[in-house]
Amino acid sequence: MIQDRFGRTHNYLRISLTDNCNMRCFYCMPEEDYDFTPVSKLMQAHEIEALAKIFVEEGVDKIRLTGGEPLVRKDAANILLALSKLPVKLTLTTNGTRLHEFVPVLREAGVRSLNISLDTLQADKFQVMTRRNLFDKIYNNIHLLIDHGFHVKVNMVVMKGLNDNEIPDFIAWTKHTPVHVRFIEFMPFSGNRWTSNKVVSLEEILAAIAIKYDYIRLQDAENDTAKGFTVPGHAGTFAIISTMTSPFCSGCNRMRLTADGKMKNCLFSRTETDLLSAFRRGDDVRPLIHQSIQDKAKELGGQFTTDFEHLHAETIDNRSMITIGG
Ligand code: SAM
Ligand code: SF4
Repeated sequence: MIQDRFGRTHNYLRISLTDNCNMRCFYCMPEEDYDFTPVSKLMQAHEIEALAKIFVEEGVDKIRLTGGEPLVRKDAANILLALSKLPVKLTLTTNGTRLHEFVPVLREAGVRSLNISLDTLQADKFQVMTRRNLFDKIYNNIHLLIDHGFHVKVNMVVMKGLNDNEIPDFIAWTKHTPVHVRFIEFMPFSGNRWTSNKVVSLEEILAAIAIKYDYIRLQDAENDTAKGFTVPGHAGTFAIISTMTSPFCSGCNRMRLTADGKMKNCLFSRTETDLLSAFRRGDDVRPLIHQSIQDKAKELGGQFTTDFEHLHAETIDNRSMITIGG
């Protein structure tokens, strides 16, 4: 069992397969020119499998693949199938652009639920936010996966003045479609142009919904980072991930492995532990995993508090989101 000083048991590992991506979401990538990590520096498929196995032996029972965009990695299907042999709930977070190629593999790997990111329902705004003309592909793939019986959660990062006016449109989408929309408060990462006045808080999101809809609170699953709701009569649900105004750190069970094999004990951790180099040297990585979790801060990586109005993103010591794996 992997436990920290605050009694939190860590049974959920998020593995980034790559920092490469076929989109350019401005809130995720650093502003300056960014070179993707060369493939040779990334964890190889057999290394991902071996490290994941060690985590499972230490108590992990849920693994999420993320990135960058996990499905741009050429051996993504093989990695999915290899990890599906482990006794874990396997899932992934994807931008959805390649999902139509992966339906049989996802089935074979036993994936039942996945998170797909879509921040706007307007194709022209999508192009501005991602610098790619891929709205229709993603929207169609979301429906394709739902039609194939997958549980689809849609991640929507809410930003003031940009897409917050679309909150009711996303709720309208849940009326006849069994889609589970998750509104995410905008978070600060290295070089992502975050400012506190762009955050749309949990309260503000609920207020925007209440203008048009009555909603009810749903019972959250243990360790859930999202507060769930539904509008009675709607086929889908919605939830809010309120990392900035009401974080979920007290129930945190997450650990992260970056694509270059560094373990992060928190999304906002300042430090990281180089598991891949140790593994390549033939060292036992178990003590490193436990030490990393022992060193975990109580909340938000020890870097800020919910008093985020006075926060300056450049004072946070972290990677960019695309290199962490959200
Ligand atoms: N490429 C995949 C995707 O877009 O779903 C997986 C990686 S992406 C980094 C994972 C999630 O992080 C996405 O849902 C994305 O919207 C979210 N994300 C990225 N930057 C964020 C930020 N600054 N604040 C909140 N969420 C963010
Ligand atoms: Fe790529 Fe996902 Fe980041 Fe967008 S949010 S740039 S799709 S990794």
